[in-house]
Amino acid sequence: MTTSFLETPIEYLKGVGPSKADLLKKELNVRTFGELLTCFPFRYVDRSKFYLISDIRDDNSFIQIKARVIHIQTIGALHHQRLVATVRDSSGEIDLVWFQGLKWVLDMLTPQQEYIIFGKPVIFNGRWNIPHPEMEIPTTQPVPLSEIIRPIYNSTEKLKSKGLDYKGIGRLVKTVLLNEKFVMPENLTPEIIERLRLINRQEAFVNIHFPQSPELLKKAQTRLKFEELFYIQLRLAKQRYGRLLKHEGHQFPVVGEYVNQFYHHHLTFELTKAQKRVIREIRADLGSGNQMNRLLQGDVGSGKTLVALMTMLIALDNKFQSCLMAPTEILARQHYHTITTMLTGLHVVVKLLTGATKSAERKEIQEGLQNGTIHLLIGTHALIEENVKFQHLGFVVIDEQHRFGVAQRAKLWEKNVITPHILVMTATPIPRTLAMTLYGDLDTSVIDEMPPGRKPVVTKHIYEPDRGKVFRFIREKILEGRQVYIVFPLIQESETLDLKNLIDGYQGIIKEFPLPQFSVSMVHGKMKQQEKESEMKRFLERKTQILVATTVIEVGVDVPNASVMVIENAERFGLSQLHQLRGRVGRGSDQSFCILMSGYELSAEAKKRLSTMVRTTDGFEIAETDLQLRGPGDLQGTQQSGIMELRIADIVKDEKILKYARNVASEIIGKDPGLVKKENDILALHLLNMDKKQQNWGLIS
Ligand code: ADP
Ligand code: MG
Repeated sequence: MTTSFLETPIEYLKGVGPSKADLLKKELNVRTFGELLTCFPFRYVDRSKFYLISDIRDDNSFIQIKARVIHIQTIGALHHQRLVATVRDSSGEIDLVWFQGLKWVLDMLTPQQEYIIFGKPVIFNGRWNIPHPEMEIPTTQPVPLSEIIRPIYNSTEKLKSKGLDYKGIGRLVKTVLLNEKFVMPENLTPEIIERLRLINRQEAFVNIHFPQSPELLKKAQTRLKFEELFYIQLRLAKQRYGRLLKHEGHQFPVVGEYVNQFYHHHLTFELTKAQKRVIREIRADLGSGNQMNRLLQGDVGSGKTLVALMTMLIALDNKFQSCLMAPTEILARQHYHTITTMLTGLHVVVKLLTGATKSAERKEIQEGLQNGTIHLLIGTHALIEENVKFQHLGFVVIDEQHRFGVAQRAKLWEKNVITPHILVMTATPIPRTLAMTLYGDLDTSVIDEMPPGRKPVVTKHIYEPDRGKVFRFIREKILEGRQVYIVFPLIQESETLDLKNLIDGYQGIIKEFPLPQFSVSMVHGKMKQQEKESEMKRFLERKTQILVATTVIEVGVDVPNASVMVIENAERFGLSQLHQLRGRVGRGSDQSFCILMSGYELSAEAKKRLSTMVRTTDGFEIAETDLQLRGPGDLQGTQQSGIMELRIADIVKDEKILKYARNVASEIIGKDPGLVKKENDILALHLLNMDKKQQNWGLIS
């Protein structure tokens, strides 16, 4: 009975209805009352405190100021109008900006009135602005104690347009919590709760959303962080235990014609020491009789794909098929192109299967896979569809780990009686200790050496006033025949503003680099897939020299002729994202450049991020710094690092809780590996429910 209340579809919640329900599902992956409750506030604001305008340093965090409206103005052409209200407090001035509902805002604003203004400052045109703030006229009545700590929820432009801003979401959460049927079932054993002095789950859920006091908020956070980390650790501990028993794996004893031909006649360069070492590690796995489950880490361009290809040839020498799965269509195509090129002249049958493959061809491919005439299949998620069956699948490569979840990997395993060997490749550097904690079920190999002759990318941090120099530099490089990326941030939180920023930037760039001498492509997330692909293609085919984009190009796009990466508002990117972006250049033998653009107003953290990028190109060093810098519950940081989708815990800041969670989990599995003892029923049940739900996978890809 209790669970059925939490499993009630969200559209039955008062104030939701079918269309909002649809949006909640699409934007936040919330389908039920219970899932709504797991959208934890990512921040809390103390309503009794005000910021001084002159103290604003950091973007991307909510603040509250008390200031008077001194000037109201509508700016821009008809369809790109914005309303700007300048407000002042004792310390300075700042602009409030609206792009939508201008008329309504204009009616609401009273010149000279003092307001409590609540919002998130961002830098726009070199100045601090607060887009779409929330405004309130100060009253003399004191705020009730229970409302002093105000929860801030993640929202999106679409949700906001339906009245579901952070406040609207808070209202929905409250409706669920206040319902008399609301009960949150416990999922830890009394023993654990007592031993770690945790509060119970129900109390934790109430206080994480509407804290009765700072102390209770802290307790609620600790309890929920523990719970989150504990279940990850419990699953890993169980897998580790299972792995000691080992799965039977295919034996690949032969190194034959394919490998030898390729190695001696097709490879135009010597393998690096690191590549040789990794291939030895892989070969040891393949000969062991056990199934391989290996994570291959290495910076972009370090030669992971080549290692994967050689392993596929070993599989082929042993009469097994292989497949390679990439996170996007573009990447899959690129792999297909590279691999078929490298294999020219060898009799290896390679096919590409993606969502875009026409049904006639799809059918042909399915047949070829089943009768064994196709040796190697490259593709996207399409590979794990039910009807894709192999005759003898022996080896699976998954590129860019963070886009695929454990659940999807498991699905691949089901394809054969004996599970194929699996190699997961990632260019997201993960410190070793962390990798062990997160991927306890995988062995790891590292390529820590770049192919010779590669020149490290020269990185410079340039301030806005020197933009002219940057444009001159770009022009020079284009005239030398090179191509250039210009990347803008696009963050869900301030979508409208960012999109505007991107379009403005694009306009500026085409003015600076006009036709017919120059041509510019643009790609962003709001474009149709087809449009995106065709713009991308124009750049790949060198029909355009500049690609203006949001971070959609982050993963794996390979254009060796591109030698300059300009990152706009670089202070707004996380370190690992900057590193990934920089990895897009420096793929050819010529010197490449990465230019980080920013204004002068920078937070201490942003400065550190940018100076780290300028100082080093070592992915592991960058990853370590990134982990140290990321703040608690910094959603963006967690998403960007792509390491893991945690709802509340932070693997760095909550290291202590993580250790407890790990210890408790291994102790329990040590005594009861299968979680079959009566007292562990509650744990086994919850683990099972989590496996069933796998709630997050939809969001990842
Ligand atoms: P990754 O998959 O790690 O990003 P790739 O395997 O795509 O790296 O390799 C990047 C580029 O470097 C490719 O053009 C590849 O042919 C080349 N390459 C790989 N290994 C070597 C090597 N040992 N020496 C020279 N070039 C190499
Ligand atoms: Mg690659």
